Amino acid sequence: MSDTWLPTDAELLAWIDEDLDPVASARVETFLRDRPPLLSRLEELLADREKASLSLGEIWRRHRISCPPRTLWQAYLDGSVGDGVAQYLQGHLNLVGCRVCQANVDDLGRGGASSDDLQRKIFSTSIGRLPRRKD
Ligand SMILES: [Zn+2]
Repeated sequence: MSDTWLPTDAELLAWIDEDLDPVASARVETFLRDRPPLLSRLEELLADREKASLSLGEIWRRHRISCPPRTLWQAYLDGSVGDGVAQYLQGHLNLVGCRVCQANVDDLGRGGASSDDLQRKIFSTSIGRLPRRKD
């Protein structure tokens, strides 16, 4: 994680909805704790969302209808999906405005490791610090 990392609006909203995986959620939480001014940004986002809460797009987003898996977003970013699939995925982001998938795309676009990779890394760097069992 670089020092210039900033959570996107999509990631902040996904965080408040507890839609992020545990690793991404912890990253946003740590970030917000260290930078209280971002909390006011979060309040603005929530106020905006409240205004739009009855829109069809919001209902679609809340129920995460038709969210493609992260592996498909990676393939999309790599340019290895066909035109039809690419159009569908673009519509999911631009028409549906799915913030969970936008957060995934933002993360993958930054070269973010998969959550499995991050969990493995956290596990491997913390295992030596665990207290030993006393048998
Ligand atoms: Zn989605």
